[in-house]
Amino acid sequence: IDRSLVLIKPDGYRRGLTGEVLRRIEAKGYTLVALQVTSATREQLAQHYAEHEGKPFYEPLLEFMSSGPLTAAVIEGHGCIPGFRSLAGATNPTEAAPGSIRGDLGRDWGLAVQQNIVHGSDSPESAAREITIWFPGIAS
Ligand code: ATP
Repeated sequence: IDRSLVLIKPDGYRRGLTGEVLRRIEAKGYTLVALQVTSATREQLAQHYAEHEGKPFYEPLLEFMSSGPLTAAVIEGHGCIPGFRSLAGATNPTEAAPGSIRGDLGRDWGLAVQQNIVHGSDSPESAAREITIWFPGIAS
């Protein structure tokens, strides 16, 4: 059975959307395996976003992700990796379909792409890697 790493980013936390995102995950039938409100360390974020290092949005993204608490979760369910990305919607909330988390709850403004409420793993390899970053005690 598949597992994915989900982050409810600091904008989602600040806006009080944690429960709404978790509700959608559970409504879809996915199981919460681990859940923690935490403040990300620079090291965790550097590991998590290693593939984006050097891109223009990298430093602002790490700063934003350090700007307050976030919620990390491990979810479980058949097909939950593409399934959660489908629940999340397109990276840019302006382009995300209605019915998706970003489409329904994302805001249209200059930082919409950066502050897009959630992250979800994009492959089984990413999920395994990301789960060890945020939940070192858990076997993926
Ligand atoms: P995630 O991995 O967070 O679900 P994603 O896979 O849809 O999102 P990626 O391309 O992996 O998007 O980018 C990771 C994150 O980096 C995005 O969720 C967003 O917060 C930020 N990001 C990506 N592209 C941009 C950009 N052009 N400007 C600002 N931030 C960006």
